Amino acid sequence: MKNIVIAIDGTSASGKSTNSKLVAKALGYVYVDTGAMYRTLAWFCMQNRIDPHDAKAVAAACRKWKTKLECVEKDGLKSVHLLVNGYFPEKEIRTAEASLAVSLIAVIPKVREWMKKAQRDCIQFGDLVMEGRDIGTNVFPETDYKFYLDAHLEERTKRRAADGVNENLAARDQRDSQRAAAPLMIALGAKVLNNSNMTSAQTSGWLLKEIRAMLPATK
Ligand code: C5P
Repeated sequence: MKNIVIAIDGTSASGKSTNSKLVAKALGYVYVDTGAMYRTLAWFCMQNRIDPHDAKAVAAACRKWKTKLECVEKDGLKSVHLLVNGYFPEKEIRTAEASLAVSLIAVIPKVREWMKKAQRDCIQFGDLVMEGRDIGTNVFPETDYKFYLDAHLEERTKRRAADGVNENLAARDQRDSQRAAAPLMIALGAKVLNNSNMTSAQTSGWLLKEIRAMLPATK
């Protein structure tokens, strides 16, 4: 692996997206939101009336859907989009319905296999900041740059509500942590931060300091 991958895993609404974007922007790396990729499949199933509980049907859809990875730059941030039939469903994947369906399809081993391959393919775009649940444990276990973010449930629920989304985060975390295939857990050697009482400037500042201390002089 010649490009650098910074793996940022953690619980739902622990600040992974905000801080991963800040870190990617500061370093000029490419941001990859793997949750968005799972959400895109959940949305695709909803569009095609595929029951998210039906592992066989979801796996079949995943084998057949026409997708493309694209790296786009906007407001100084490079990020990877997963297109389906040439379309990037940016808003549609953020609905309460998609949030409910996503952790159901994420337990399916064939889905995780497909996602892992697509996520590893993102290395073609350059050095990455990749956020998710299993990046340090499963997608890029070979990276030295592993982080795990968390915050108290009450604080995380407040943050989601501030984004206009009321969701049972505890239920989703439980499903993500208890599934057999690549569950959410702290990767061996990961640096853990509970940022309940921290601003995003403080969290991203801490991440950048840790990362810069590890980067080779040539980077
Ligand atoms: O990060 P986000 O909340 O958008 O992720 C949505 C869901 O996608 C998670 O709750 C989880 O079920 C699934 N996911 C996953 N592995 C990842 C990223 C997301 O299982 N690497």
